[in-house]
Amino acid sequence: MNLFCSIGYRVLIILIHTQYLVPNPAFNLRGRSSARFRTPACHAGGRGFKSRRPRHLKDRQNSNFFMSYVKKELVFTKEQIAERIQSLASQISHDYADKELILVGILKGVFTFMADLVRSLSIPVKIDFVRIASYGSKMQPGEIRLVNDIGLSVKGSNVLIIEDIIDTGLTLDYLKKRLKKKRPASIKVCALIDKSERRKIPVDIDYVGFKLDRGFIVGYGLDFDERFRELPEIYRLIF
Ligand code: 5GP
Repeated sequence: MNLFCSIGYRVLIILIHTQYLVPNPAFNLRGRSSARFRTPACHAGGRGFKSRRPRHLKDRQNSNFFMSYVKKELVFTKEQIAERIQSLASQISHDYADKELILVGILKGVFTFMADLVRSLSIPVKIDFVRIASYGSKMQPGEIRLVNDIGLSVKGSNVLIIEDIIDTGLTLDYLKKRLKKKRPASIKVCALIDKSERRKIPVDIDYVGFKLDRGFIVGYGLDFDERFRELPEIYRLIF
């Protein structure tokens, strides 16, 4: 009997030591292991117990597993995007002819759109970027934080904010209020996609590429957990 107890005790110690019996915090659906991308950690990796695989490998494995089940449907082709950008660029070039214009892009999703738009303009422009975080493990829902501000002075200049998608409107509202304090001559907004489904704050968008009412969009610079940015078309993810 003593022998069995002693063996059982040793096995228990080994299991705890190798972490087979330690509950995995990622299994908690309310936990925010990655605020933007919780699903794979909870579904694929949430076995309830920690494996011995290092976390960075486990996250990559979970993410790949999840991504293999994500389907996407084509929303806008390369040709449709190019045509729309050409028409936006003509309109902007016309409206700002003989005026000093500074384009302020909101990273990261805007990088492809901004590059194509700038090359289609027929007027000289200056460009700058801001980086804004609207999610994060230590942030409250709806909280917006400036990560990188513009370097150029916009005082007395015309500013055109370039955004990839306007969704709730919170990011744009935050940036507009912030830029206004720098006393530019004017502030207007150009967005590749105006997605109205989750709008919380009414925002004026002066130049709109496409209007959509629903869905999570990827491709052409837009990501889901840093994936799909390289796609030349725009897709809607189907979960
Ligand atoms: P807001 O909700 O503040 O208007 O949008 C904030 C940011 O969320 C956007 O700049 C964009 O980066 C991201 N976002 C909103 N909707 C989508 C979407 O459908 N797809 C992707 N990839 N990002 C989105």
